[in-house]
Amino acid sequence: MGGVKQEKDYVFHRDFTKSYPLITHGEGVYLYDSQGKRYLDASSGAVAANLGHGVGEIAEAMAQQAMKAGFVHTLRFETEVLQELAREIGELAPPTLNRVYFTSGGSEANESAIKLARQYHADRGQPGKHIAIGRWQSYHGNTMASLSAGGDIKRRKMYTPMLNHARHIYSPYCKRCPYGKTAETCQKDNTLACADDLERLIRELGPENISCFICEPIVGSQQGAGVPPEGYLRRIREICDRYEVVMIVDEVMTGFGRTGTNFAIEHFGVEPDILTFGKGVSGGYAPLAGMVVSDKLVDSLIQYGNGRFVHGYTFSGHPVSVAAGLAAVRYYREKRVRENGAQQGDYLFLRLQELQSRHAMMGEVRGKGLLLGVELLLDQEKDLHFPPGLDMAERLNQAAMERGAVFYPGTGTVDGILGNHLLVAPPLTISRAEVDELVQILDEAVTMWEEQIR
Ligand code: PLP
Repeated sequence: MGGVKQEKDYVFHRDFTKSYPLITHGEGVYLYDSQGKRYLDASSGAVAANLGHGVGEIAEAMAQQAMKAGFVHTLRFETEVLQELAREIGELAPPTLNRVYFTSGGSEANESAIKLARQYHADRGQPGKHIAIGRWQSYHGNTMASLSAGGDIKRRKMYTPMLNHARHIYSPYCKRCPYGKTAETCQKDNTLACADDLERLIRELGPENISCFICEPIVGSQQGAGVPPEGYLRRIREICDRYEVVMIVDEVMTGFGRTGTNFAIEHFGVEPDILTFGKGVSGGYAPLAGMVVSDKLVDSLIQYGNGRFVHGYTFSGHPVSVAAGLAAVRYYREKRVRENGAQQGDYLFLRLQELQSRHAMMGEVRGKGLLLGVELLLDQEKDLHFPPGLDMAERLNQAAMERGAVFYPGTGTVDGILGNHLLVAPPLTISRAEVDELVQILDEAVTMWEEQIR
């Protein structure tokens, strides 16, 4: 490469085939680049900027904490902000989950949960219980245990030989059931093949070898907001109890009001043993994530594990991140952000359905609250997917970016090939007029994209 190097030439880009607009600032649901172009942040970045951009209260709380103590090692000390945020999250979580462990990101949170599950069994004299069961069409992060347990085919492929310690069942997907059922037949026969497959796999591998089961309550990036059928998570809970398997619910994307409730698990009336969170906890203002752990697991750790979790990160409970989280959680409550998100989510759902009825290449609209997804199809009437490898969701997002909105394009396996979808998940603070603008831009982008394809 000749010529004079610029700053950007020193960056190890996330994808060297792309160019990256330089963002100078953000305000509310908008981001602005150095060319003066405005983008409506229709996916809150990676579904993290739940509170929108430029929230002064959070910036101030971070600055104040940085001045007080910029780093405190949580192996030796705790801070007031850490204890307060733990209480806030403990109170939001299901009643039997009360102790909060912090990490920097969602992958680390799931890594910690998978390790804690394994330690729980080992402490209680069952060291054989080490296998994690996850699901295809689910994502839990990019670190090794999280990647192993997840089912993101594209991200796993390169590392397959290194991903040994997890097994998988399929995520429920009633419209194209991988078990060959329909929602109607399942309801009629009172069966749930997608949940019962967990029992089959546990028995096949031997319950004495199984440590935990991990799932997203509503599947984000891998299914475009896939909601499980009635009774699914209750059945999963029963199976986990029957075989002493720790149930982990990954709420990294769905937590903090994203689906209209504090945590998505509330829609389904069950309590997991561990709930992981991330992204929205700090509104994206600082790297922060973690897990809330049930009293049962904590009591066991104290009684049988010398009270020590054999794990830890330098930045666990980082005071500035935790201060951001505390300010964010208060902001959610004081500004009734979750309530607004639920209301705008219902409206956006209807607007997307209306859009879908006018565009031949838009399929099912799904999701809850402001975690919505739209299937992208070659032919809506014949329910035909695009051939694999064309990156159609990415291409639609490019068209949207040209018109001033950025979405979260996704692929997940459907009938053995990679299907395309678009996640629509703007900040929960979005107004009705901004929802209308989002839909207007998406409408234009889909028109442009459909014309390019034909
Ligand atoms: N779990 C879920 C459901 C996610 O959506 C993500 C990120 O997209 C992760 C875990 C990983 O979180 P992080 O990227 O913060 O490590």
